[in-house]
Amino acid sequence: MRWRISFRTSLSGKFLLSYLLIVLVGVATLLVVTFALAPTLFQAQLVPILQTHPEAMTTTEAIQRILGDFLGTLFIALAVAAIVATVTSLATSLFVARRITVPLRQMTQVSQRISAGNYAERIVIAPVHSTDELGQLASSINTLAVALEQTERRRLEVIGNVAHELRTPIATLEGYLEGLLDGVIEPSPLTWAMLHTEAGRLRRLVDDLQELSRAEARQVPLSLQPVTPQRLVQDALEPLEGQFAEKGLELQIHVPEDLPQVMADPTRAVQILTNVLVNALRYTPAPGKVVLAVNCEYTMVAFRISDTGVGLSPEQIAHIFERFYRVDKSRSRAFGGSGIGLTIAQSLAQAMGGEIRVESAGLGQGSSFTLTLPQSHS
Ligand code: ADP
Repeated sequence: MRWRISFRTSLSGKFLLSYLLIVLVGVATLLVVTFALAPTLFQAQLVPILQTHPEAMTTTEAIQRILGDFLGTLFIALAVAAIVATVTSLATSLFVARRITVPLRQMTQVSQRISAGNYAERIVIAPVHSTDELGQLASSINTLAVALEQTERRRLEVIGNVAHELRTPIATLEGYLEGLLDGVIEPSPLTWAMLHTEAGRLRRLVDDLQELSRAEARQVPLSLQPVTPQRLVQDALEPLEGQFAEKGLELQIHVPEDLPQVMADPTRAVQILTNVLVNALRYTPAPGKVVLAVNCEYTMVAFRISDTGVGLSPEQIAHIFERFYRVDKSRSRAFGGSGIGLTIAQSLAQAMGGEIRVESAGLGQGSSFTLTLPQSHS
């Protein structure tokens, strides 16, 4: 948006007019006070002189003439002084106003360019380094521009990642369908099963994306209530125990009896634990061990899931909660993972007042994920 600013409505105009008003009031006061006091003061000075010098004694008309001449001279001197004072004050006000309006004008131009989508724009003039209000305004605009730039970059990354994730299952489906159309692939139950698997992968990805956007916008409705850690652990483990046994992984559970209840949405808490347990199952080769231990941590309850699996490097740990981050892309895609499970889990944990932490001694050393949830005080 462009504003049309006339001289009268501009800040410079307002500064100039206000300074002019101050000068005029000052000059008027000076004139009124001077001419009110001058005759009395003049006479008070003149009388003692005439008394001590009687030879200078003169008529009342002569005194009146001297007084008139004195006031006339005084008026001319004051009028010239007032004009000079007005001109110098206006010049000073112009200088002061420019020091304020020039940076303001640049800030307006930069913020207009930022709002038009040029997020790399920054304010580079002097006030950025000063600590006064102008400096603070300039650095706030720069901070806003950095935040907008990062949001825009993440938005583009997400669009790119979504397109990339959709491309693979769509290409596979297209390949099968073309083969079927050309008669290269036999329409066997195996082919239908393959098509079904790919379609399922697409649907899961779209479901995950929807869940991710809702979780990140904190729009997942949460029904927070006191719940026992035992119940959460049991609900998360029940459907998975068979798969651990099938894969040949040892599963150890340590949940003390006397743990306090946690304040959480049971469905969402179980979803997070399931996500971390499924990852442990995926990324731990047999023979291996997964340990789920629950204990108190200050005002929180910590659910720690440790595995003897492939482990994580410090670099991988730094990115693990980012959207679409997968350590081994082809491998985890083969498992059906799109790299957004932990992003959703972290958003949900934070929405419940907790968090997920990850530790690993390094590649091949196993890893451990800890979900913390606040203790319930009821
Ligand atoms: P995905 O659906 O691909 O598993 P996640 O967000 O759940 O996505 O996990 C992101 C990545 O973190 C995984 O692709 C995997 O590389 C790594 N990861 C998660 N859990 C473990 C684990 N227990 N051990 C080793 N790597 C893991």
